[in-house]
Amino acid sequence: MTEETLSTYIESAINNIQHNTSESGNNLQEVMTNIRHRPYEVGAMFDCCGQKICEKTNHSYEAVVVAMPDEWRDLANLMVHNHVIDRTFSTGDLIASKNFDLGISIVVTPSYNFYLFRPTKGWPEGNEWIEEYSILIKKIQQSRRHNCNWATASHLALDELANHYGIIYRVTDLHGNSIPKEELKVS
Ligand SMILES: [Zn+2]
Repeated sequence: MTEETLSTYIESAINNIQHNTSESGNNLQEVMTNIRHRPYEVGAMFDCCGQKICEKTNHSYEAVVVAMPDEWRDLANLMVHNHVIDRTFSTGDLIASKNFDLGISIVVTPSYNFYLFRPTKGWPEGNEWIEEYSILIKKIQQSRRHNCNWATASHLALDELANHYGIIYRVTDLHGNSIPKEELKVS
């Protein structure tokens, strides 16, 4: 084994350890509690019976890319990951929810839980709805000027988008109480 092959081997072994770590717990409730205040993003996938499939983190503030073998991808029904600040789903999160054809996608943040449920007729066709999301965020920010930061604008935009496409979008506080659309206090 050459040094180069060895380092490639070690590198992929390390990636695999991170790929399938269960450091945040084995059931959804445990994972949600344990990742909420992490200073980096952690993502976990569950199947439709609530069994954990995998967990992944890159131990960095940046978005988690969840890479899974195909046989696991087919089983994935629920994805949960944390955002370090109180911010709703990103465009990347919407793309992942659609690509994995998730039934439920959850983002946990220090103060909230954000939920997205796949519409009964499936995720919207194409990627226009995701482009629309970015455009809506900018529009809302411009129309509200200083009263609206990016996080608030994203939340309002996603609420509008979800209504339009039949996606159920909900936000709760840490006790599970629903937060009305205009009352989200984001940093
Ligand atoms: Zn995210």
